Amino acid sequence: MESPIQQYLEELLAEVQDLGSGAPYNVHPAGREPRPGDFGICLATVDGRVYSVGVADQEFSIQSISKPFSYGLALADYGFEAVDEKVDVEPSGDPFNQISLAQDTGRPANSMVNAGALAVAGMIRGGGGKSAVRRIVDTYSRSAGRKLSSSRSVFDVEIRQSDRNHALTYLLSSVGIIENDPTRALEVYLRQCAVQVSCRDLALMAATLANGGSQPLTGEQVFEIDVVERVLSVMMTSGMYDDAGAWVSSVGMPAKSGVGGGTLAVLPGQAGLAVFSPPLDGHGNSVRGLETCRRLSTDMEMHFVRSA
Ligand code: GLN
Repeated sequence: MESPIQQYLEELLAEVQDLGSGAPYNVHPAGREPRPGDFGICLATVDGRVYSVGVADQEFSIQSISKPFSYGLALADYGFEAVDEKVDVEPSGDPFNQISLAQDTGRPANSMVNAGALAVAGMIRGGGGKSAVRRIVDTYSRSAGRKLSSSRSVFDVEIRQSDRNHALTYLLSSVGIIENDPTRALEVYLRQCAVQVSCRDLALMAATLANGGSQPLTGEQVFEIDVVERVLSVMMTSGMYDDAGAWVSSVGMPAKSGVGGGTLAVLPGQAGLAVFSPPLDGHGNSVRGLETCRRLSTDMEMHFVRSA
């Protein structure tokens, strides 16, 4: 017999599928146009059960959903104090690519907007015979529980259409937030954005955070609990950019979106949720991703106030 969760997800997929608004991100390699109708929902519990409906295994670019995981890696590498010196933990309410740097120090508001994520990418170093990018991709892979890789063709297209990110990186370098080659920081950042994941991978990455940093399938402790706590706090207030306030009041889960069409949400102690649907609203958040999370939060009483 089909589980009630599976059945619920199937009904939810059918209901939200009809939402036809929004447009997919228009930066992609030729022949790899996102299909607006693709739609998948996956839920992974902290004890390793994975429920999926719709397009669950097709790969797409992780994009900004990479930001919390790289932030976690930088926190583990350098400790809170050193990372906080470079990136603040304040919600900016800004669009993701806003030039949002503090007047006095040049410090980005948080690690979920591009400025903060570029500062974080600039901090991460290679080690143990691995490049910085390798270490980042390894961290994502350990969170997903399978080997992931970064797409060269996605990177090649993005770096040519990244004037704003170039500008941000050089600004960060001019105020000393990025201490080494700014071009290298941008490259690391865009390679992390080009990591290919499926909806299922994202649900498991979310479940790793929900499970206090321990990957539900492999049992590996990918992040320490204090790092997870910090990452989830920043996701809660800043994960959805200038839509973050509306998100917290209507959904109430720490979450992160990416222009690749992914949305990841965490129900601490219980489950990770991921949605894949390419059409985006004006904030760069997936239209169906948002609606799915909203409905799930109401139907399953996932809002942090309600479930307290
Ligand atoms: N690569 C994109 C950028 O840096 C990622 C943005 C996003 O997913 N919101 O502009």
